Amino acid sequence: MQKIAIVTGASKGIGREIAKTLAINGIKVIANYNKSENEAIKLKEELEKENINIEIFKADISKREDVKKIIEYVINKYGKIDILVNNAGISQYKLFTDITDEDWDNMIRNNLYSTFYMTQETVKHMIHEKSGCIINISSIWGMVGGSLETHYSASKGAINAFTKALAKELGPSNIRVNVVAPGIIDTDMNKKLTDEELKDIENETPLGKIGKPSDIAKCVNWLIEDEFTTGQIISPNGGWVIT
Ligand code: NAP
Repeated sequence: MQKIAIVTGASKGIGREIAKTLAINGIKVIANYNKSENEAIKLKEELEKENINIEIFKADISKREDVKKIIEYVINKYGKIDILVNNAGISQYKLFTDITDEDWDNMIRNNLYSTFYMTQETVKHMIHEKSGCIINISSIWGMVGGSLETHYSASKGAINAFTKALAKELGPSNIRVNVVAPGIIDTDMNKKLTDEELKDIENETPLGKIGKPSDIAKCVNWLIEDEFTTGQIISPNGGWVIT
């Protein structure tokens, strides 16, 4: 029976590549997007040329009511959710002393509440199936902290702790919960970095390069296929961060 996966934030960057990889591997993908409708349509059309059909679904997953809509849609149509990839996220570069209440709320809402809502609404159905795989995309900054990104680091660190706790709670229901914590990956999120800054990062990285979205998609794919890994933080980062 075909596996059903929801990938959040699949219109761009890492999420787009994860959605593509899973779909190419025969999984039915529901690719969530919010603002970037054209990019989501392009992804669907690109895959259609290869006779692969994905669904795209607009939802602002920082809102519980939107999350309920996407889950309801998938359950009504497919009856189950095998895989949830909580990838959608935002970042912001700001001095800690300049961060406003609004910045803080926005970060926690988009990165952490979204993961909480999506996971809670999905898990109800996974428990019923006694099977499931949840992959949360956090960041190296959630592990070691990023200067000028305290609110981002806090949101990602919370996702790491959330994952470990949930893995313990859901293991007996045969649901695996893991984190993929990327290093610096070449996406729009890093547009703010200058060529010089990127070069510096490459020079400081043991593998001598920054990552590509496909590096993260491969890791997600491995976690889906694996059957004995849960509660873990796997960090494809070229060796830039070794804990
Ligand atoms: P990106 O290119 O900026 O893409 C972000 C994606 O998240 C977009 O598809 C966006 O959708 C979606 N999104 C944001 N808020 C959303 C919301 N409320 N509802 C639905 N979708 C939402 O970023 P990326 O680099 O691919 O990052 C993907 C994930 O990897 C993030 O969680 C990020 O924190 C993490 N990460 C990235 C890096 C990196 O170096 N790039 C490193 C570590 C971790 P729309 O545009 O359609 O709104």
